[in-house]
Amino acid sequence: MVKRVYNFYPGPATLPLPVLEKAREELLNYKGLGMSVMELSHRSKEYDKIQEDASNLVKELMGLPDEYHVLWLQGGASTQFYMAPLNLRIEGKPMEYVNTGAWSKKAIKEAKFYGTVKVVASSEDENFSYIPKDIEFSEDAAYAHITGNNTIYGTEYHNWPDTPDDVPLVCDMSSNLMDKVIDPKNFGVIYAGAQKNLGPAGVTLVIVRDDLLKRVPEETPTMQKWRTHADKRSLFNTPPCWAVYICKLVLEYWKEKGGLKEIEKRNRKKAKILYDVIDNSNGFYKGHAKPNSRSLMNVTFNLETPELEEECVREAEKRDLIGLKGHRSVGGMRASIYNAMTVEGVEKLAEFLKEFQENHE
Ligand SMILES: *Cc1c(COP(=O)(O)O)cnc(C)c1O
Repeated sequence: MVKRVYNFYPGPATLPLPVLEKAREELLNYKGLGMSVMELSHRSKEYDKIQEDASNLVKELMGLPDEYHVLWLQGGASTQFYMAPLNLRIEGKPMEYVNTGAWSKKAIKEAKFYGTVKVVASSEDENFSYIPKDIEFSEDAAYAHITGNNTIYGTEYHNWPDTPDDVPLVCDMSSNLMDKVIDPKNFGVIYAGAQKNLGPAGVTLVIVRDDLLKRVPEETPTMQKWRTHADKRSLFNTPPCWAVYICKLVLEYWKEKGGLKEIEKRNRKKAKILYDVIDNSNGFYKGHAKPNSRSLMNVTFNLETPELEEECVREAEKRDLIGLKGHRSVGGMRASIYNAMTVEGVEKLAEFLKEFQENHE
């Protein structure tokens, strides 16, 4: 048996072991072709099928209606920070954003290059420990943008804000894509870097409703138009074939596991195990997120002192619980428990945290 640790890194993050095993099995000789998917022409029918299967699995698992396009792009979610305004802006209309943390801020910064940005709600006043309530976007907004899950602060939307009829909701779901059942009709655009909840780094999933492809000005560079990639089924240029292939294997695996309903059940169970440890620790562990904004994916918490936090991270490593150091802007600790993290891994962590508390009180 190959040694594997419990990997709580925020991204790139842990992948399902059966997926890695399957990739290993197929590495040298994919389906009898005598070559790896890494070496396969993106114009071959075999690659075409991989990508088509991946797109269809996204549609199936998320229940996407026909009018949504599934795109496989490069440049990370950070590239979508500017592609969204570039493709969706409308002269004279504000682009409206909710600021719930570091990634929202970066998205806002890029949008400002393309016109007027209005921040309609923010949780910066309390170090991004909550998701604002009663968010109101205006009737004349070009689009409304939110960050579905705040990877650094550990907060997540549990209800989607309403938008006026003609204002599409754009959501950065990099760290909570497919963590629960959603109604895709709430969204005009969803984008996500794959490396947190979907697959390896190097590919970005973008889901765009058909009518929104028409807004982009003709004189926009070809690669920067979502429409180009929708028209060419993400094969306008060479896609990140290997990354798409691994995403396909992950998607197949989620389907086999019962789809998003089952995944959601498991994610809620995992998150509850850790939040219960925090809530029952008499303040030894202090959760960063307000309870009603808690993320299913990134559990953030602090201990009494930075020294104690360091010790906790170090001790955890000795038990093969890896990647628990928090982001520098919140400090403390963060357990990223994406879809691929097992219940067993979370139970091991919970057990360790309880023991660590007993030994340090
Ligand atoms: C990680 C992350 C990003 C950045 O993704 P890249 O693919 O590295 O550009 C953006 N948004 C959120 C919410 C993230 O967690």
